[in-house]
Amino acid sequence: MNTHTHHPLYHLVVLCCVLLCCLAKAKAQDTTTPYPADYAGDRIRFHALFIWDPSAESAHVEFDQQALRFFHKLSYGEGFTYDVRTQCPESFDSLKRYDVVVMLNALPHEASQRNAFQQYMEQGGGWIGFHATGYNDKDTHWPWYNQFLGCGTFLCNNWPPQPALVEVDTHQHPVTRSLPQQFVVPASEFYQFSPSPRLNPDVEVLVSISPKNYPFGIKDIVLFGDFPIVWTNKHYRMIYLNMGHGDEGFIDATQNLLLTNAFRWIALGKE
Ligand code: ZN
Repeated sequence: MNTHTHHPLYHLVVLCCVLLCCLAKAKAQDTTTPYPADYAGDRIRFHALFIWDPSAESAHVEFDQQALRFFHKLSYGEGFTYDVRTQCPESFDSLKRYDVVVMLNALPHEASQRNAFQQYMEQGGGWIGFHATGYNDKDTHWPWYNQFLGCGTFLCNNWPPQPALVEVDTHQHPVTRSLPQQFVVPASEFYQFSPSPRLNPDVEVLVSISPKNYPFGIKDIVLFGDFPIVWTNKHYRMIYLNMGHGDEGFIDATQNLLLTNAFRWIALGKE
């Protein structure tokens, strides 16, 4: 004979469970209740193109290879699709299917590559450039590129690569609003440009090397000067980040957040 009986609280617990279940269902059916996540579902993925130069100096290649691994991780779960090239495309048709082009220490040199890139950007293309991608001097002979970058030519750099205290210039921007006011970025070589992009009304400077670093360097020492390292030209969907030299580019969570924010902002739009 089964003499088992439920504990007196058993029925109360069952009743509570049933009630909670009903409440949860009612909540799920209430379409006015906001849901805190936006899962990708069937949303169309964006397409990215990464360009690097295996023949560049070894410290740039080190950064580029780590960058490819970093961005590959951001694509987990097929968040986006991407291609990798070691040459800049020579036609607009090869570029236009990408929502974002990331140049890792590489930039167009041939006239056909330059024209294709200019057309891509002028027709709303998205661009992220790292470090030597922004290097230009009197021998570059590409005036449009200076107008696009929003800065002058290369002026000087610290040497050897070293960490730097940086200051966020504005938190009123999607790329910087989750960043602290100041943080230390991992070791890199940093370029100062002349004139500074800050003097260009089309440019919004987002992050700068702090003057507190001066004198900045050991062999080559930067003593003074305005030193923006992350900025955007408001006339294009672009962001330039000056970091990109050596094998420490991805060791710091704060810098990784900055890079993720930058990629997200260009790839997903200005939100
Ligand atoms: Zn470098």
